Amino acid sequence: MFKENLTDLRAYDPGPPIAEIMRSYGLTKIVKLDSNENVYGASPKVAEAIAGAALLPHLYPDCRDLDLRSDLSRRLGVRQNQFLFGTGLDEIIVLISRAFLNPAASIVMAWPTFYEYYCHARIEGAEVRRVPLAENGGHDLDAMQAAIDETTRIVWICNPNNPTGTYVDERSLTAFIAKVPSDVLIVLDEAYIDFVTAGDFPHSLNLIKQHPNVLVLRTFSKSYGLASFRIGYAIGTPRVINEIDKVRPPFNNPRLSQIAALAALQDQPFMQSCVRRNGEVRRMTTDFLNRRGISYYPTQANFIFIRTDRAQALQEQCRRRGFLISAFDGGIRVTLGKADDMRKLLAILESALVDLATEQEM
Ligand code: PMP
Repeated sequence: MFKENLTDLRAYDPGPPIAEIMRSYGLTKIVKLDSNENVYGASPKVAEAIAGAALLPHLYPDCRDLDLRSDLSRRLGVRQNQFLFGTGLDEIIVLISRAFLNPAASIVMAWPTFYEYYCHARIEGAEVRRVPLAENGGHDLDAMQAAIDETTRIVWICNPNNPTGTYVDERSLTAFIAKVPSDVLIVLDEAYIDFVTAGDFPHSLNLIKQHPNVLVLRTFSKSYGLASFRIGYAIGTPRVINEIDKVRPPFNNPRLSQIAALAALQDQPFMQSCVRRNGEVRRMTTDFLNRRGISYYPTQANFIFIRTDRAQALQEQCRRRGFLISAFDGGIRVTLGKADDMRKLLAILESALVDLATEQEM
């Protein structure tokens, strides 16, 4: 009855409900730093736009996302037929996999990186080649290139990488792309691009002009604080976009999501203020970790990966005190919270790390 490809997959596990955590630990407040959401919320212009919009609940939404498409097209200097919109990048990843993969195909991706690339390749029956990150937490581009063969249809580059926050610089990326066969789609997932401050971060939209096999992904979930509205997009050549559009459900972006995204986009000062505050907290956090000699990966995103072999125990210690963070093999990923929350969390982490170290010695 079931599809064999799904046997070794697991459904997304969101962890226990917040109300349950609060009840079981007797907490009155939870600080959610486990999903890299925007801790500063969304522009107030979003609520205004939605309140002022005609609901039109009985009509299907604009299947072309025209208002959003034309605004983004002007801002980014990209033609309108180079965009594809989806119900978050989550859906775009599904659509890319659906359009490009089959059981004879393979993909190449880093490990660890965003899990959905793996999951949807497996659903399509494709082989997944997972290339461990380099010691510095970055993509090992040489090893990724070596993993490509004639079956490879997609190479995924998460830039900055979730969960490590590290990035591939322009020079390394250009050299890599030059070596990848032109019939392999290179997807640059830039979900966190707005938080980047590094001067040598790739100008990916220019890369599309030189390399038609490059596709860039961006989302309104992070810097624009619209995770709840589920809206993201891909930018590529009209040929690639058209191919993915064939598998897109026509009315995938709800009307209110399109309105919310447009309002958020038009309030650049709000987005920029989130990015600036994130940068300040990022500096404060890395200063703190440096002073305590706590190991982490340098991050360009709105989260940081702290290296520890006691990730599960640390996650539990934080949860008890009302902070939700994520545990991975080899470390924890913490969304960079508001400055006050972050100071509290860093103090908790520091004392938990000392406790765990003493426990280990005993
Ligand atoms: N790509 C990356 C790297 C992510 O971290 C996320 C969200 N966690 C997504 C894509 C999906 O984003 P969304 O569906 O909210 O647009």
